[in-house]
Amino acid sequence: MSTHGEQASIGKVLSFLQEWDHGNKTARSRMLEAFLTQNSGKTFVELEREFAQVASLFLSRLTTWMRLTYMFGTYLGLQLKAIGVFLSASSHDQYLREFLEDGGVLTLLDVLGQTQTQEEDKAEALRLLLTISNAGRKYKEFICESYGVRAIAECLATSITEETQEAAWALLESLSRGNPKHQHQVYKGLIALMPCTSAKAQQLVLQTLRMVQSKVKTVHPSIVEPLLNMLGSLRLEVQDEAINLILDLTEYEVRPVLLSGLVALLKPAKEEVQQHHMLEEPEMTEITLSLSVFVQQAAAAKAIRLLAETSQELSEELLSLGVIHHLLYTLGNRDHTEAQVQASLALEHFVRSYPDIEEHVHRAMGSTLFAAFMSAACSVFTMSRLRSAMQKGKRASLELTETTKPVRKRSKAAVKEEETTTTASPSTYHTFHDPADVVLLRSQLLNWYDKGKRELPWRTAAMTEPDLNIRTYAVWVSEIMLQQTQVATVIDYYNKWMKRWPTVQDLAAATLEEVNQMWAGLGYYSRGKRLHEGAQKVVSELKGQMPRTVESLLKQLPGVGRYTAGAIGSIALGQVTGAVDGNVIRVLCRVRAIGADSTSPAVTDALWGLANMVVDPERPGDFNQAMMELGARVCTPKGPLCSQCPIQSHCHSYRKVYAKQEKNSKRLLGKLDRLPSTLPDIEDCMNGGSCPLCPMEPWDDELGVQNFPRKPVKKPPRVERTLTCMVVRSGEEGGDEYLLTQRPNKGLLAGMWEFPSLLLEGENSEMKQKGALCAEISRVLGVQLNKSLFQYVGEVVHIFSHIHQTYVVYSVCLKDSEETQTQTENTQWLTRSALQEAAVPTGVKKILKLYDSVESQEEQTSKDGKRKKTAGVKNDKKPQTSKKAKLSAANNGTRQLSLSSFFKTVKEES
Ligand code: SF4
Ligand code: ZN
Repeated sequence: MSTHGEQASIGKVLSFLQEWDHGNKTARSRMLEAFLTQNSGKTFVELEREFAQVASLFLSRLTTWMRLTYMFGTYLGLQLKAIGVFLSASSHDQYLREFLEDGGVLTLLDVLGQTQTQEEDKAEALRLLLTISNAGRKYKEFICESYGVRAIAECLATSITEETQEAAWALLESLSRGNPKHQHQVYKGLIALMPCTSAKAQQLVLQTLRMVQSKVKTVHPSIVEPLLNMLGSLRLEVQDEAINLILDLTEYEVRPVLLSGLVALLKPAKEEVQQHHMLEEPEMTEITLSLSVFVQQAAAAKAIRLLAETSQELSEELLSLGVIHHLLYTLGNRDHTEAQVQASLALEHFVRSYPDIEEHVHRAMGSTLFAAFMSAACSVFTMSRLRSAMQKGKRASLELTETTKPVRKRSKAAVKEEETTTTASPSTYHTFHDPADVVLLRSQLLNWYDKGKRELPWRTAAMTEPDLNIRTYAVWVSEIMLQQTQVATVIDYYNKWMKRWPTVQDLAAATLEEVNQMWAGLGYYSRGKRLHEGAQKVVSELKGQMPRTVESLLKQLPGVGRYTAGAIGSIALGQVTGAVDGNVIRVLCRVRAIGADSTSPAVTDALWGLANMVVDPERPGDFNQAMMELGARVCTPKGPLCSQCPIQSHCHSYRKVYAKQEKNSKRLLGKLDRLPSTLPDIEDCMNGGSCPLCPMEPWDDELGVQNFPRKPVKKPPRVERTLTCMVVRSGEEGGDEYLLTQRPNKGLLAGMWEFPSLLLEGENSEMKQKGALCAEISRVLGVQLNKSLFQYVGEVVHIFSHIHQTYVVYSVCLKDSEETQTQTENTQWLTRSALQEAAVPTGVKKILKLYDSVESQEEQTSKDGKRKKTAGVKNDKKPQTSKKAKLSAANNGTRQLSLSSFFKTVKEES
């Protein structure tokens, strides 16, 4: 007979289960949250007590629900955690057995294989499997017999977070322990994982392999090839682990194959060398491909030295394989410092250990070089040619020298210089070391671009215009317009421009005035002027033929810099070159975690190197536009849309943010200690503080991926005040005419027309300002005016990108005097309609607007409603009073633009 308490408790459980059975997914998620809060960490006995000895009923419901819903990810994280409460309940394995019987392990393994499963859920599933595996041999066997090793290995190879990788690694490690029946299966699974692309996964695999290897006692010969390949990893951690495993394996039957493989790596196969010479891709791609061969060469030399130092027996085996000849060959590779250093250290070991080798090498090097070599083997041979070749974009070649004259001795100063620069050379973390990654990135980006690119008129021209000259011209015009101006603004200007001047010849025949007029409103007027100059140059000096290469675009066209030449060259001419603009800088800095000042020479070089490396050789123009479009639409300066990013899997900053979030949440949940923490963080640059590409500032969690790129602090805009005067006279046809003067041909608004102006220095009284303007206008017109004629109108603010300009506006109305007929080359009188049509800067238009607004106010407020214009008509009011009066009048008026609202409409000219 059960007690009253027991009955109550059974009732409670039954109603809980009933609620579960009838609840929808939201209700169930709430129940799971409550369950986790109340039961996490409980033992078997405690759980049984809580659930009236029938807790299994709930576990089996949970297992079933997971099996039915894991593919949709419905609260999968919560379900896994709740199951974890049961599986980790210590002191009894009843729940484990029941979970296995209900097919729970198979479901967990399926969860690992689902591409849509979130990384954190995979990690949770792996932790549950680890709990099961740690429960004993029979559980390990069950997992292995359910094809678990393959599922876990695949998960390790494809996962992108350290948390998942470490969880998978811990599980494989557990499965290999105390599981003799399946040790070989785990061992082979690990070998199959060796070629995976994630460096972290490779490092974990190698660590586990070393451990498992010591247990399985025999070596599978298929391990040799991937192991030697791993020496080409640009990650030192991976290389070191690979070398350690090689050292271990010399105890086994694969030793001869391994040793001869290592020696062969010192001398890359002819086809490999030729292949690198023949590549027509940009230099950076070639160098990176070669780099892996060189890195492998260096690591092989290092492994050989370590082996030779281990035992005389190994040394002699290596000698019998011709290692000296091969080391001398590596020593001749002046394109990779590390290969030279490692070969030189290995050679030194043999020279010091064997007198006949000493004699042989002495003879091969000659006395002077040999003496230098023996006194400082690692520094005499260090060279930074590879890096300088990369910086200069020069084609690197292997330049393998004859063994009799492998190296030349260099001056101490040179050695010192190279040593210093070597320490500051950028880490491979900031580039792509696996060509397969580059290929993948290209296809991901181009797929995304093809699906959703914006249709823009210049893109259509680049695709459809068969005439190369017109195509290049069209792209050139678009690129110049797009410098500093948004796409949306440019479209209209571009269409009008191409309609008016469809060829470079048409543009060359236009006047600068017409060009300026067309450009009005786009800002940065010198761009239009340079386009015009360029067109005239093409017609007069290049026989009307647009340049055909990036170099000649750069050299021949004014206003075309490195980026514009790259963009025109790739888009219009199909040249295989990168194009680094602001958008591309941002994307590349984020993708490769480049956080140093993005305007520094080191970063600029690195970004161009990267852009040249990743550009798709088949579709360079589309690729560059895709990068720019990604920067403009997805990888935006603020609020980047990483979840929609097609190249997210290559993005170091994204991974960094993700990894940090993971770590923080682990810390919060107190799980950080569950997994070994001795592993180095391979998501960081290995050069640390000395890296010229890493940020100086510490990582800011709040910024996330926006930690990259970093810009130097922007200088505040220069504040200027300029006196300007509307000089008005009555024209011949009765209307007013306005005096304009031309600005100098260089500098701000070069060659543009404006109202006569004077830069204001210091604060002046109104009288002084009038005096200065009077003198200036008198000079321009060649007449002597009276300063009392000048009247204060108001102020206009106009913001250029680097100047905060305030125009202090005066006006003067002149009598219809013959004296004002004077007209010089740099002055002109324009009627109101001509002025409205003229190509004048936006600032002038704003001044005109202000003038009209004030004029109109005066008309409105004048008593008789009429305004008679006489010589020196305007009252000489104090500026402040007059301004206030005008302002208040303007505010009361209905039709006129008030000064305050006018100032509000002043927008930055970009
Ligand atoms: Fe930019 Fe985010 Fe894509 Fe990285 S993942 S490239 S930060 S949008
Ligand atoms: Zn770095």
